[in-house]
Amino acid sequence: MSAKVIDGKAFAATVREKVAGHVARLKADHGITPGLAVVLVGEDPASQVYVRSKGKQTVEVGMNSYEHKLPAETSEADLLALIDQLNSDPTVHGILVQLPLPGHLNSDLVINSISPAKDVDGFHISNVGLLGTGQKSMVPCTPLGCLMMLRDHHGSLPGMNAVVIGRSNIVGKPMAQLLLNDSCTVTIAHSRTKDIEAVVRQADIVVAAVGRPEMVKGTWIKPGATVIDVGINRIDIEGGKTRLVGDCDYDSCAEVAGAITPVPGGVGPMTIACLLANTVTACCRANGLAEPEGLTA
Ligand code: NDP
Repeated sequence: MSAKVIDGKAFAATVREKVAGHVARLKADHGITPGLAVVLVGEDPASQVYVRSKGKQTVEVGMNSYEHKLPAETSEADLLALIDQLNSDPTVHGILVQLPLPGHLNSDLVINSISPAKDVDGFHISNVGLLGTGQKSMVPCTPLGCLMMLRDHHGSLPGMNAVVIGRSNIVGKPMAQLLLNDSCTVTIAHSRTKDIEAVVRQADIVVAAVGRPEMVKGTWIKPGATVIDVGINRIDIEGGKTRLVGDCDYDSCAEVAGAITPVPGGVGPMTIACLLANTVTACCRANGLAEPEGLTA
């Protein structure tokens, strides 16, 4: 058996098209342009790449992009003052503070100072609570992207057995919550889970968000299951080169699974597409307008 490849790159392009269409209507019908502010503190090279990419894609879908690059030694008070200013700026509908922050800054404090309505990363404690109680919230982008791909592939998810491997606040926990809200029977596996292979083998849906290269093997997968690989790991290969791999051993999993996301080109591209989707959703909510269909949880 050879799995259907779920093409996250193509799917992300359709999400961006929907967002662009909605942005165009907001401009034409209401004279509103959604705006996303991204705050980067310090010069972490990976974060700089992400922020550039987010800014570029924001502009491509017709939204305003505001980048705030602050030096690594920025004080907490100065960062909080900037967030305060963005919270009250009506042209800014989404605020994202790029993580990780330099060590002297309290990430929880900073994230929880963002207005929940503008928290397009969905990390604010209010949004976590709203998601946990099945209420309208801003949903973290990576799990939202996984959910969109699962809904698209399966049509409907109720009653399916889902195993989420990983329990981080940004991927594993919100992913499990989203699947639960969609009436899946959800198990969360983590580093202390006993006989994890047997646990994973029960799953109709496996979401791997572990950060361990190629940990999940084909022998762990129930035949026909859907495998969503969130992992992004760079490994050394011969000749001093490196290669990106996921948390699943792609070749062996693809032999057994019914469908699988590749790395790269699976979950990765969906993350920024969902950030744009969240920004247009936040803009609609801020203006009391109907939310775009198919772009929220
Ligand atoms: P974290 O390191 O925050 O969490 C990893 C989780 O995996 C933890 O809950 C940990 O368990 C669990 N874990 C670690 N080792 C094992 C093991 N041997 N068996 C079972 N569970 C284990 O990672 P993130 O959630 O932030 O990210 C996970 C992966 O997803 C990474 O590769 C990251 O790069 C990628 N990622 C990709 C994104 C995208 O856009 N595609 C976005 C965000 C992340 P415990 O809690 O017990 O320690």
